[in-house]
Amino acid sequence: MEHCTALMHALPDGMDAGLILSEHNRRYLTGFAATDGILLVTRTRAMLLMDSRYIEAAREEVRGCEVELLQNGVKQMEAFFKAEGVRTLGVESRELPVAELNRFRPLFPDITFDDGNALNDTILRLRMVKGTEELDAIRRAQVITDDAYKHILPFLKPGAAERDLALEIEYFMRQNGASGPSFDLIVVSGENSSRPHGVPGARKLQAGDFITMDTGAIVDGYCSDMTRTVALGFVTDEMRKVYDTVLAAQLAAEQALAPGKTGSEVDKIARDIIYGAGYEGCFGHGLGHSVGLQIHEEPRLSPACHETLQSGMMMTIEPGIYLEGRFGVRIEDLAVLTDNGCEILTQSPKELLVL
Ligand code: ZN
Ligand code: ZN
Repeated sequence: MEHCTALMHALPDGMDAGLILSEHNRRYLTGFAATDGILLVTRTRAMLLMDSRYIEAAREEVRGCEVELLQNGVKQMEAFFKAEGVRTLGVESRELPVAELNRFRPLFPDITFDDGNALNDTILRLRMVKGTEELDAIRRAQVITDDAYKHILPFLKPGAAERDLALEIEYFMRQNGASGPSFDLIVVSGENSSRPHGVPGARKLQAGDFITMDTGAIVDGYCSDMTRTVALGFVTDEMRKVYDTVLAAQLAAEQALAPGKTGSEVDKIARDIIYGAGYEGCFGHGLGHSVGLQIHEEPRLSPACHETLQSGMMMTIEPGIYLEGRFGVRIEDLAVLTDNGCEILTQSPKELLVL
């Protein structure tokens, strides 16, 4: 089913129409990528207003939704509201800036704006379970990401700078079919690797470093996400213990990941292993997140997420241990939930690699 039709069927009670302005939700619902545009959805009709920069492509590509040239947005929206008998309009509470909402209200004095979370959460809920085409795009993005990892390993030599390695990975991804990286790629080494979202800098690799590479590509708008940590030259006993602990936590969580469990239950499995090995306080982030048009989507694998997991959801499994000012290790795979467990999309090996 077209995503737009799915929203028409799922439009929250008490709402005559939804106004969708955010880039990602609009793209999800119409399948069309554009920085701007106005999407209006009722239970029986959906209309996309696009300006002249996009109109030609939109008319060609958008399915399951009327497309109209945006000329006078207020008049066009008014006409739509009148034709469809719209009195209550839902907005994307989590996306629409307050200033925008305040600008809209006086323009449509006859409309009651519903700025609760119902519309936004309904769309988020639809986006949680991936369809065949979405899954296919993510699979292709992950293949490029695995290939980029294989490609970068020979570059990991003493003297190589973090930012040059990040650039080489991105260049490879784009050369191999990605439209771009799915976030600012992370390559951090040595003491920098204790920062989970460190920024690649001028630091040059040296023997005894852990190198954490968190990378992902975008294909057809969809993101992949993977982290591998490798060592250069040698590892100390402590480094090996940290690595083995993270890997054990990662494998146990993947084993447990299945529909019917909550995000917090799966998080706890990995967290217990890490804390039990003496690293309480060294794993500050959640175990994982969903991935789609955006790199971080709902639901999460975290102590705070009580969402029940379903088949078709995409999740990362990425435990880490970070010893401040010294080193860190994170291992991240991407998995899709299946009827009785999960399928790991990531193919890159996870055994400790000392280059
Ligand atoms: Zn990542
Ligand atoms: Zn991630």
